[in-house]
Amino acid sequence: MAVQNLKATVNSSSLIHPDSIERDANLKTLISKKKLHLVLDLDNTILESAILETLTKYDQDYLKRPVAVKLMEDKKLYIWDYEAEGFKDVYVTKLRPYVKTFLKEASTLFDISIFTLGNETYTRKMLELLDPERLYINSQVITREKVLLTRSWRKGHHFLKSHERVVLVVDDAKDVWEANAKNLIDIAPYGFFKDESSNKKSWTQKLADESEKYGELARVLRELKKIHKEFYNLEEGEDYESRDVRDAIEEVKRKFSLQGTKDAMSQHAKETTNEIDECFKSMDLNCRRNKLNRIQTSHEVM
Ligand SMILES: [Mg+2]
Repeated sequence: MAVQNLKATVNSSSLIHPDSIERDANLKTLISKKKLHLVLDLDNTILESAILETLTKYDQDYLKRPVAVKLMEDKKLYIWDYEAEGFKDVYVTKLRPYVKTFLKEASTLFDISIFTLGNETYTRKMLELLDPERLYINSQVITREKVLLTRSWRKGHHFLKSHERVVLVVDDAKDVWEANAKNLIDIAPYGFFKDESSNKKSWTQKLADESEKYGELARVLRELKKIHKEFYNLEEGEDYESRDVRDAIEEVKRKFSLQGTKDAMSQHAKETTNEIDECFKSMDLNCRRNKLNRIQTSHEVM
């Protein structure tokens, strides 16, 4: 089923520039379901893939260790055979922690699309790993082949069947969305294996992984929920014609930054209190010393 859906979408090259009638119809459907359109990148946003033989020796050995075997049993790490257009490779894919919960929860508020610069074969495999029954990724699947028809490596709203004002994008690469920067939600890139261009220890070296509860996907989901709520939070007399998700993003950012300021102030207050505590402690010690001195002095006087 996943393959059929993907083919239907990928082969529809005529849909590169969806017309306004299609977008209007999509808008009506989204509004009637109280949903928005969420567009997700794959690589380094919700998973990491690599060709097995390009991994460091340490990471190749890591894949034989019990910790990796457990991840494979738990369907969080996969080693799989890639074969397309005469090329064969063994790939390793690590899903970002929390991704399955993210997709499930986000799908109650968003129609979810995948927009990747990976090719069709690779993308089809990723869909199998992420959402085999296609319960959550229910909208467009846009791959490299479709992007290259425009003779560019740029992603953009012109590929999407939704109006710009209802589209949210989560992609670790901002530069490919240059024309739609205001629809982007920031996310730090995810890498599980050792990146040899970096001095940072990899998760494999730390024998750990990004936190499910406090990691990037959990944070982004919280932000998306706030933006969705803001979009659908109509003032009296207002209708959805005036709503724009880019305004909702700004409004949520504004509230976040206020919250951030509040948090920063409370942190500052805490630090200041600690400093005062330290100061009091020190004064107290001095006082005690003074008291002791006074007592000793008074004893001496007595
Ligand atoms: Mg990416």
